[in-house]
Amino acid sequence: MKNCIFCQIANKERKAGIIYEDDLAIAFYDINPQAPYHILVIPKKHIENIFELKESDKDLIGHMFFVINKISKDLKLPYLRVVTNSGRGAGQSVFHLHFHILSGRTFHWPPG
Ligand code: 5GP
Ligand code: ZN
Repeated sequence: MKNCIFCQIANKERKAGIIYEDDLAIAFYDINPQAPYHILVIPKKHIENIFELKESDKDLIGHMFFVINKISKDLKLPYLRVVTNSGRGAGQSVFHLHFHILSGRTFHWPPG
């Protein structure tokens, strides 16, 4: 998607602090971190959010959680929170599916 900033990051048309990449997914540091560790994991393929997932995306989503597992081990995170906001009411501001990995501070529940 031409006007999607995360597609632009995936295509290297926009700079980002990339920490992991493979054929299907890419992970980079959030530009406005909400915790000492704040990383975004996205599929390279443009999918708007959870509501747009198709049955054929099942393996891709499983793969993304494996990428989250790998990053958490590489960074030796002792705990983490994974968040995906889907829809404006949930706080989604970039409409390309992404999982936030957050760590390095105490988190509260329920989230705001
Ligand atoms: P959402 O609000 O959609 O759940 O999360 C979008 C996230 O993308 C926000 O945490 C925001 O700081 C981050 N973000 C927005 N634009 C950019 C950008 O150009 N580069 C990077 N690295 N992160 C961005
Ligand atoms: Zn996109």
